[in-house]
Amino acid sequence: MGARRGVVALSGGPGAPLRPRFPGPGSVTVRVPAKVNLHLSVGGVRKDGFHELVTVYQAVSLYDEVTVEAADRLSVSVVGDGSGEVPLDDENLAARAIVAAAALVGREPHLKVSIRKGIPVAGGMAGGSADAAAALVAADSLWGCSLDRTTLEGLAAGLGSDVAFLLVGGTALGTGRGEVISPVLAVGDYHWVLAVADFGLSTPAVYAEFDRLRAADGGPGEQIPPDGVLAAIRAGDVVALGMALSNDLQPAALSLRPQLARVIDAGRELGAVGGIVSGSGPTVALLARSSAESVRIASSLAGLGVCRTVRRATGAVTGARVVTGEAAPA
Ligand code: C5P
Repeated sequence: MGARRGVVALSGGPGAPLRPRFPGPGSVTVRVPAKVNLHLSVGGVRKDGFHELVTVYQAVSLYDEVTVEAADRLSVSVVGDGSGEVPLDDENLAARAIVAAAALVGREPHLKVSIRKGIPVAGGMAGGSADAAAALVAADSLWGCSLDRTTLEGLAAGLGSDVAFLLVGGTALGTGRGEVISPVLAVGDYHWVLAVADFGLSTPAVYAEFDRLRAADGGPGEQIPPDGVLAAIRAGDVVALGMALSNDLQPAALSLRPQLARVIDAGRELGAVGGIVSGSGPTVALLARSSAESVRIASSLAGLGVCRTVRRATGAVTGARVVTGEAAPA
């Protein structure tokens, strides 16, 4: 399958240079993981329309790769599973990341951005945010800016709720609207089986359904603290983690797509120690007791035909990192 390509409309302005400032060769590729939320507790709606969150993120080993190279305009192309669903205009989060980074450092955002999708699109695993995080790291590296972590996190926070986490990866607490990241102590590797649906779910639609269900239920209750999840990962106790997994968005995702309940039940029947909708869904994340167990559960689940495809992943892995690259001449 060929790449989908798009050209992003740019606000060049009358004073904008017609040629890029770095006409030489050079490209940088960044690999970035997906995330699951081990705990996702949703509070009230803020003045900016976002919900207060207390979440525990874990970065898992499904990856997108984002390559940037010097060009005479900003363009985006996407290959891989689900690439047909990814916007190629200035809605694309990687393109928005490039525009934001360029504005900050006083450059033109003239880069060719090539995205290879390994993270399910519209799957509740932060694929779009991952591409934004990767694009920030890639542009920073190509341009030789060496922006510090606080600056990158500030850019990330303006792009989406999960972007700052994907710069860092590992296991971390997210507060605010999800973008305020604090590391947490986590021991051990965790083996996930990811049931990818044959449909996507829109994150705003899931939050809207969450609000509707909560209003019908009499308004906001207490936000549940992530103590159970934090204790389990501090101890490296996979069974305790399986029991502690929780996601306030799950009832909303199940309300929109009731068939997801069958996937969670099937995973538990096959021996997963826990099963949960990942973020806003529709991917279901099943926690296995061991790597061998994840192989067994994945192959049995694939045979049931309750989801489009089954993937395995391990957490926690590091966030967006340069894997190949050559800096452009200054
Ligand atoms: O920040 P992000 O792009 O992930 O958010 C996508 C959408 O999800 C937002 O436009 C909003 O509708 C919803 N959202 C929210 N509260 C959050 C995070 C996301 O309402 N904390």
